[in-house]
Amino acid sequence: MSKHIAVLPCDGAGKEVVPEAIKVLRAAGADFEFEEFDVNADAYMRTGVAIPDEVWSQLVKADSILFGAVGDPRVSESDYLAGVLLRMRFELDLYVNLRPAKLYDDRLSPLRREDKRAVDLLVVRENTEGLYVGMGGRFKKGTDQEVAIQEDLNTFIGVTRIIEYAFEVARKEVVMVDKSNAMTYAGGLWQARWKAAVAEHPNVKARHLLVDAAAMQLVKDPTQFDVIVTGNLFGDILSDLTAELIGGMGIAPSANINPRTGRGLFEPVHGTAPDIAGRGIVNPIGAILSASMMVRHLGHTDMAQAIEGAVESAIRAGDCTRDLGGTLSTAECGDAVARRLRD
Ligand code: ATP
Repeated sequence: MSKHIAVLPCDGAGKEVVPEAIKVLRAAGADFEFEEFDVNADAYMRTGVAIPDEVWSQLVKADSILFGAVGDPRVSESDYLAGVLLRMRFELDLYVNLRPAKLYDDRLSPLRREDKRAVDLLVVRENTEGLYVGMGGRFKKGTDQEVAIQEDLNTFIGVTRIIEYAFEVARKEVVMVDKSNAMTYAGGLWQARWKAAVAEHPNVKARHLLVDAAAMQLVKDPTQFDVIVTGNLFGDILSDLTAELIGGMGIAPSANINPRTGRGLFEPVHGTAPDIAGRGIVNPIGAILSASMMVRHLGHTDMAQAIEGAVESAIRAGDCTRDLGGTLSTAECGDAVARRLRD
């Protein structure tokens, strides 16, 4: 039976890159039924509802969700974001956020030294807890005595399962990143669960780094990293850094998955890119590689490899958008990848 994919391009650059990902999936021969939903800032402004109930029930049933980006200056960023992307991450319990960074062509690296450029790592970001849960408040809001509290939620189960997943996917080593010297309560729980996991996996190399040291090491020598496991906020920040190491925001893919239920939402790391959206120049590769992560998650390893091979070939040939040094439009770049899959 063909898989049912819920498609949510949403806003800005998302609307431009998701059709290219679908184009590439079709060229790769994916037997999927795509159903697009009208979840975006226009609909939110019209109805006041981020995801209507009838759409939600379809999303819950879908085999996977292919997602673009949410955001619009006309709506309250936090309410809308919470109502769409964060709701799906939290309520579908997509607790693993995978953000791989692989350098496809040497010319895309900002690093001076050639021997430090071979980046092929995976950031495993905790996706359902941390500072993103929206707990806290603003006391005496708007006065000069205002107090703002943002809670950093960390649970035994949440920390344990994300560290466990990192060990499952590690090829060489797991590096756990936290700020346990300053954030001692949350850090204490991460440290305890980390030490227990390390003891359970004596055959996998394991190392701990504070987040500041990790940022420094990622720039100094990213070739040393295989899997980095960390919390929601640090994972968000470090994966923007790793995206830049492989050619920028336009190229970086991500997966939001629950490995136990099989649910998944796949989206480029970038946002709506309001500075360049709507002009046919946004890079669709991040969305295309996210689609490739989706087919891999659905069990089609050969197809995922074929898509990644086609992306690599297009990038190396210079058949790409201008952020990667090419001259192609968004659609032409999608065509360049799709053509390689059909030939
Ligand atoms: P948002 O608020 O939706 O997150 P943003 O501008 O803060 O938007 P991004 O959309 O991630 O964040 O964009 C960050 C930078 O990366 C911008 O300068 C943008 O132009 C660039 N960028 C993002 N996506 C792409 C893309 N697909 N192709 C090329 N450049 C991109």
